[in-house]
Amino acid sequence: MIRISDIIDKVSKHNPDADIDIIDRAYIYSARVHDGQMRLSGEPYLSHPLEVAGILADMKLDPVSIAAGLLHDVIEDTHSTPEEIQEMFGQEVVHIVSGVTKISVLSFNSSQARQAESIRKMILAMADDIRVILIKLADRLHNMRTLQFQKESKRKRIAQETLDIYVPLAARLGIYWIKNELGDILFKHLYPEEYANIERLISKDKKESDKYIEKVKNLIKKKMDEDNLKCQILGRYKNIFSIYQKMVKQNLPFEEVYDIIAFRIILDTVSDSYKALGLIHSLWKPVPKKIKDYIASPKPNMYQALHTTVIGPFGERIESISKKFAWIQNLVENQKIFSNPDEFLENVRIDLFPDEVYVFTPQGEIKSLPKGATPVDFAYQIHTEVGSQCTGAKVNGHIVPLKHELETGNIVEIITTKNHHPSKDWLNFVKTVKARSRIRQWIKTQEKDRSITLGREMCEKAFRKHRINFNELLKSEDMNTVIEHFGFKEADDLITSVGYGKITPLQIIRKITPKPETEKDHESIFNKIIVRVREKKPRAGIIVKGVDDILIRFGKCCQPVPGDAITGYITIGHGVTVHRTSCINALKMNPERQIDVEWNKDATETYPAKICVSSSDRVGLLADIAANISKSGANILNANTEIRENRIVDSFFTLAVEDIKHLDRVVSAIKKVKLVHDVKRV
Ligand code: MN
Repeated sequence: MIRISDIIDKVSKHNPDADIDIIDRAYIYSARVHDGQMRLSGEPYLSHPLEVAGILADMKLDPVSIAAGLLHDVIEDTHSTPEEIQEMFGQEVVHIVSGVTKISVLSFNSSQARQAESIRKMILAMADDIRVILIKLADRLHNMRTLQFQKESKRKRIAQETLDIYVPLAARLGIYWIKNELGDILFKHLYPEEYANIERLISKDKKESDKYIEKVKNLIKKKMDEDNLKCQILGRYKNIFSIYQKMVKQNLPFEEVYDIIAFRIILDTVSDSYKALGLIHSLWKPVPKKIKDYIASPKPNMYQALHTTVIGPFGERIESISKKFAWIQNLVENQKIFSNPDEFLENVRIDLFPDEVYVFTPQGEIKSLPKGATPVDFAYQIHTEVGSQCTGAKVNGHIVPLKHELETGNIVEIITTKNHHPSKDWLNFVKTVKARSRIRQWIKTQEKDRSITLGREMCEKAFRKHRINFNELLKSEDMNTVIEHFGFKEADDLITSVGYGKITPLQIIRKITPKPETEKDHESIFNKIIVRVREKKPRAGIIVKGVDDILIRFGKCCQPVPGDAITGYITIGHGVTVHRTSCINALKMNPERQIDVEWNKDATETYPAKICVSSSDRVGLLADIAANISKSGANILNANTEIRENRIVDSFFTLAVEDIKHLDRVVSAIKKVKLVHDVKRV
């Protein structure tokens, strides 16, 4: 069992100024709370955190990491609390230990093996401090080193999990020695026979190989020296597991796995790496298609290296890698470059997946979503049906609003209600393209359905007035001509377009009955809702959601101007009428016919607005008011005056204004006129 003094020696050796006190205190605390606990090996439990801290010290991590390593199991396995850790060791240590605990309590079952990539990403996303992952890897490494003490079934499960999750994690972070050691141990446990075979084959010619490695290393060294390339050369056996993987993957016998011995040339700069590759190729002939440039296109973990396979000095293949340090190795092995501790910290607090969150379904399946995603996004991710019938959500068992922002590690449960429909409001908070497009699609279908029902109703009514049965007519030959005349293929399209207000039923009637009766009578039926037809069409000032190119009119009753809150009503035969949301007429109308509209900010038009100016009567009053109105850039469309008792005059003006701000300006200008008491919009 490693002793605390060994760990402190390691730390002091590479960092003489390190704060040893925190390591000492963490050791004493850990020993106290783990007291009486045992490992399956029969050793005191404390041996585990000590070994983990030892691995971290070998990785040349900072004292805070070593302390956190000593404490990494105390929250999960003892009575100790985060508050206590915080108080005794500070924010940084508790943050790391809590991070390790959070990952440890996630339990992955075998059905999740196929989601291994998601799990790895999730672990990386949950650890906002890279030291959490490093401790987790050290923890796993020691547990693997002592795996033989576990029961057989558990051994296999842990080995498999290590293969699925931790080996790729170590590779992703570029910590290859951990990756290789984990790989060898798990291989031994998962495939004991194959492991023994390869081990035997390797050791058979071990002596020969060692000599060979030395020889080739010297040849490379000489070549590099000739060109003054400063480098470090390593020659080593590939680990047993990767030899096995290669044998399986490429279906080769052991003897034919050529690159069982690989040489690694580590250089200072990128250009040196390319130079070294050139030198190797000038020394030995490269095998075609075996050159991989991970400098030009780095692996996701930023591993940067050049790989090549050459025919070696004795006619054999050699894999040669000239590489630049992977970034994380740089971080943990080359701490000298971080002259101050803050700089180191800046580099360990990273968000590896800043744009993603990973959450669980109640069945334990992992879903990846963009950051800021809500339960509605999650629901649509599961199924369109689940999305559209979603009425509520639980996160970790607690009800949350539908616009709640999900976080990595959340367990999300969606509550659905049959026959429930998506809401337009959802568009304000959903983050995924899928949810957005499905909701939009639903609204569009909705509006189309509504338009077709409305169109049919309008046609039936109008045709009845002409004593024509619209539904009978639909089946007739004549109808096809009409449909074609309006440029449609199907009767439904024609009816929909009536519902949208693009065509009036009267237009269809005219087409069907060439000699119409007195049109005006009929038109007046549709004109019951007071609308003001404006000369310019179509209206550019209004956008009707989901519908293009529709006839727009403004309620004369409330005369909305841009800036007013507005709503639209599909009217019989006259497209959409826009009212202010506060308009009494609007409130009285059938909600079925309501449609969302908004102001088109790009349009430059004027709109009528009626105001009432109350003032005391005096000579020249109207002239002064009119002058101030035109000074503020508005036209007077209409004016009339009523005199009340006490010589109070109410003057009504209909003005052409651009928007509500313009109207406000006009109103303040009028208020400046002498003896004007009040100006109100009518
Ligand atoms: Mn542990």
